[in-house]
Amino acid sequence: MSRVYNFSAGPSVLPEEVLKKAAEQMTEYENSGMSVMEMSHRSADYEAIIGKAESLLRELMHIPDNYKVLFLQGGASTQFAMIPLNLLKKSKKADYVITGQWAKKAAQEAEKYGEVKKVASSADKTFSYIPELDKSEFTPDADYFHITFNNTIYGTRYTSLPDTGNVPLVADISSNILSEPIDVTKFGLLYAGAQKNMGPAGLTVVIIREDLIGDVEPFVPTMLTYKIHAENGSMYNTPPTYAIYICMLVLEWLKENGGIEAMYETNLKKAETIYSYLDSSQMFKGTVEPKDRSLMNVPFITDSEELNAKFIKEAKAKGFVNLKGHRTVGGMRASIYNAMSLEGVEALVDFMKEFEKNNK
Ligand SMILES: *Cc1c(COP(=O)(O)O)cnc(C)c1O
Repeated sequence: MSRVYNFSAGPSVLPEEVLKKAAEQMTEYENSGMSVMEMSHRSADYEAIIGKAESLLRELMHIPDNYKVLFLQGGASTQFAMIPLNLLKKSKKADYVITGQWAKKAAQEAEKYGEVKKVASSADKTFSYIPELDKSEFTPDADYFHITFNNTIYGTRYTSLPDTGNVPLVADISSNILSEPIDVTKFGLLYAGAQKNMGPAGLTVVIIREDLIGDVEPFVPTMLTYKIHAENGSMYNTPPTYAIYICMLVLEWLKENGGIEAMYETNLKKAETIYSYLDSSQMFKGTVEPKDRSLMNVPFITDSEELNAKFIKEAKAKGFVNLKGHRTVGGMRASIYNAMSLEGVEALVDFMKEFEKNNK
């Protein structure tokens, strides 16, 4: 068996060490006599697994004690509804910055439950930049202010956060969680689908400041109530046990490899390697405003659809897979999450150079 270089945007590459450990423990976890998949979520063995996943995440992200960590299901997309259902409490108003598909979907969902103001958008240039934010546009009594921190599809990310004063800042960090240091104290709520940078699909992590956890309208489904999950230690019902276990292994791997600070350093090198080539290439170019470039998702194009298709095909034959851009953007996209090594990115860039030379 030989593993490819997988540049998928999600579900995406996982550390090989993690997969091997999981394989080793597949039929019997430690001395339990069973697979993690077969365990009661209320067993002592499983309590230890979910407990470790939480404590590692707290340690790695420096999550303060006044924040709860919730292990939920339904993907980031369920959070698009859960956030307004739980947080639209006083004014029932929220501000959203529209930086791509995910931000748009999040805002659309919130519109069902309250008054949404789109304070800025980069739709005019296919979301290729992060818009300047004018504080005077912000709703002073909003219940929260929502951003998509890293835009997986378009390849942009915030390099500074909006100053929202007392209005809680809420961020979708699905594609940049664990990739760079994030100051949790700046946020009221952070959420991420695990399948980009922390584990398999099926697990969604929510980090929420305790004062934002409260009662909701009676019509809100029990399963969509943060308070219920917080009070029950993410065990109101059966959590996604195996996905949480893999996430725990990923967090262990991360810690053994220097934590988020070390990941960030490598991620900067990876991004620099590919962007500097894109900037010097006569054939390939990046699609994003340089100052707003994502460290995790790198979209790029040539000036011909034919050449794009040829590149994707030849790359695949060489073991560089999932480089096709999102269906709404076209071209190519290399997602270079934590589990993609610097060597993997260097190998891709070498291949791009060779392709450029051969197709002049
Ligand atoms: C992938 C992604 C989503 C959607 O996640 P699901 O878990 O599929 O619902 C939302 N936001 C961002 C930033 C994403 O990258």
